[in-house]
Amino acid sequence: MNTVHTDNDNLESDGSDEFTGGPISRRDFLKRTAVISSGAAALVAAMSPLRLLEETVTAEEFVQKHYKEMTKDEMDKVIERIKGKVEKKYGVTPTLRDHKPIDGVEYVYALNLSRCNGSRRCVHACVNENNQSRNPEIQYISVLKMPKGTLDMEQGTRSYDPDVVPEEDSYYLPVQCQQCENPPCVKACPVEATWQEKDGLTVIDYNWCIGCRYCEAACPYWARRFNFAEPEVPKDRLNPNMGYLSNRPRPKGVVEKCHFCLHRTREGKLPACLEACPTGARIFGNILDPDSEISYVLKNKRVFVLKEEAGTMPRFFYFFDK
Ligand code: SF4
Repeated sequence: MNTVHTDNDNLESDGSDEFTGGPISRRDFLKRTAVISSGAAALVAAMSPLRLLEETVTAEEFVQKHYKEMTKDEMDKVIERIKGKVEKKYGVTPTLRDHKPIDGVEYVYALNLSRCNGSRRCVHACVNENNQSRNPEIQYISVLKMPKGTLDMEQGTRSYDPDVVPEEDSYYLPVQCQQCENPPCVKACPVEATWQEKDGLTVIDYNWCIGCRYCEAACPYWARRFNFAEPEVPKDRLNPNMGYLSNRPRPKGVVEKCHFCLHRTREGKLPACLEACPTGARIFGNILDPDSEISYVLKNKRVFVLKEEAGTMPRFFYFFDK
């Protein structure tokens, strides 16, 4: 297997040597292509943090097609390659699948804010399930401590550490990817590394992401996370049940976020955050099934969404008991 070493300082170099061991990666190549096609100096500025990153990309990774263009055989080979890398790095043989959307299913989440007690069990279950970096720490769910009387998430604080929760003067607002029907993050991506699937989930191909972080800036909910450093997951904590578009280990320099645990939910299971919630505050299901619990909640509770004025049309709803 050939290894293509990169030099992320060479955005302005001639780039003539992709396959001859020269200093270029597919990510460098895409960065240049995006810069040329957009002519946007701002794009170069946005990518400047990546110029400091070092990476090693194999020739197979370099020539990998876009997710939507790969045949099943090609995806099978990619999966075998990733499994090999996981085995080598973590000493674990993962179960890695490319989970496809299920016909007739559109996922929606609802959260009962009267029940959330701010314990952050959901946050830690998500970290464990989705192989998020422990150092530096990456978490997809932010539980905001909110002053009573407002629904404005900008007034919340992420840092609270009382001896006992819940606290008298507050309520708690967990925020993660809202799986918007009109997602600005998708429109912002210059290389189509993120897109919305037919079950409503906005996904990311970590092999296609160039780390420009435009999606992160476009998201009104602070739902996306960027791997500034090589993610660290202890070998004995790695979750070996993996999805290509979900919780497989991510490299440095890419964006990630909540995907409603698609490697679980597309197999008929519930998201890990829901299972971990000690108060039953979380409800998840198929909105196209009129008999589902989520359909009942949306029909019978006074639900609301965050930042409705942004026009993103979230598939994540909130409600109170009273
Ligand atoms: Fe994209 Fe943010 Fe909406 Fe998730 S919440 S779909 S990351 S804009």
